[in-house]
Amino acid sequence: MKVRDAVAALEEMYPLDLKEDWDYPGLVLGNLERECKKICFALDPTIDVAKEAGKWGADLLVTHHPLFFRAVHLIPSTDPHGLAASFLLQAGCALRAGHTNVDAAPRGTNEALCARLGILKALPIDPEGIVNGAPAGLGRVGELEREMSLEEFAKMSRERLPKTVQGARLAGDPKMKVKRVAVMSGAGDSFFDKAFQTGADVYLTSDLRHHPALDFMQKLEATGRKMGLVDVSHFSSEFPWFDFALKDVKERLGETVELRLLDVNTDPWTEAFI
Ligand SMILES: [Zn+2]
Repeated sequence: MKVRDAVAALEEMYPLDLKEDWDYPGLVLGNLERECKKICFALDPTIDVAKEAGKWGADLLVTHHPLFFRAVHLIPSTDPHGLAASFLLQAGCALRAGHTNVDAAPRGTNEALCARLGILKALPIDPEGIVNGAPAGLGRVGELEREMSLEEFAKMSRERLPKTVQGARLAGDPKMKVKRVAVMSGAGDSFFDKAFQTGADVYLTSDLRHHPALDFMQKLEATGRKMGLVDVSHFSSEFPWFDFALKDVKERLGETVELRLLDVNTDPWTEAFI
């Protein structure tokens, strides 16, 4: 099997057509004709991740976040992205980033988040048709197996998602009952209105900032609608994708390829003082 075949399989699983307009997922660098025996996974293509991928002898690194978010003209080793790229190129390791296409795809980050949280019958918040026989689109909304308080849901989220120093914080009445849950893996404050329209009791996402969150809570007060917010770390909202990704890639590519989730924590936050 060549890198080309592995990349084609990833493209089938997480079609690039599902990406947002501003996003540039795909094969970032690497030789498609290289033999592909080892594939490793990480959330972010950081310098440490690139080093680890090279040390392990990976032929392909699959990340959720892209290496470059904006147009780039220079990638010297004094630039962090340039340094990561140079480690990967020296090791002969290709890099394939899947981003908003993985968020939207069936068995992508949002569905993996629902699976961890026990959210059943989840459907996209922003539907984009059927892909690989299942509904695709950003976000998911579904139902918990049983009703619980907002506080219990926030604590359960903290327990079931990867441990981070941020944990989980909530906005709203901690005693209110929640059953219908909307989620958006990654930064979700641009989806407040869509989450509101789903009729969910609570919206769980990450990277919520003061003004958008406060405006949303004020909107709830003004409209008389009860709804909670749960904010978890960006890292922990997306990392559960690897529960699915390694299993699904193994199923597609078979035993000839060795897979590994790199043991590098790329959450930038390391301490919290509360
Ligand atoms: Zn993200």
